Amino acid sequence: MKKWFIVGHQGDNDSIINAEISDIKMIHEGGNITSRSVGYNTREELIAGEKVLDCNCKKCGSIIKTHWLDPYPKLLTESQLCFSCYHWYGITLKLKDKRQVIIDGTAYYISPDDNNAGFKGFGGREFKIKRFDSDEVITTHNLWCQGDISKFWLDDLKDNAEFWMNN
Ligand SMILES: [Zn+2]
Repeated sequence: MKKWFIVGHQGDNDSIINAEISDIKMIHEGGNITSRSVGYNTREELIAGEKVLDCNCKKCGSIIKTHWLDPYPKLLTESQLCFSCYHWYGITLKLKDKRQVIIDGTAYYISPDDNNAGFKGFGGREFKIKRFDSDEVITTHNLWCQGDISKFWLDDLKDNAEFWMNN
């Protein structure tokens, strides 16, 4: 009997499918599914049981899970963005902040050196960064990596800086 599942795909969005469980094989079973929810009899039961919204992420098309801690359920519901896209949306809002840099498709935040004494990004390693909009070379010992930018956000989050090599 067909049931409703959320399935994860390697390198792609999670999706809701209606299938026989024998037809959806995990990778270790010879298929291409990375995760699989329990099966539900109806789509409505799945949406309630898995705490997903009845709409897809307006940016990437993924299902929107709302099982996160507050305030995320409300934020994701209002924005109709999935958790990952909401993260990148938040970075776009920080682009006016000169400390928010994008280098080779990866987002970093240059925290002040005197922040988080004893707990520094990259263990306090020194980086020199030059923004494209300035001649200043910023030296930091508190750089935080925010991840490789999702392919859906590359147009919104273009490189704005480079690592400065002076040796
Ligand atoms: Zn998304």
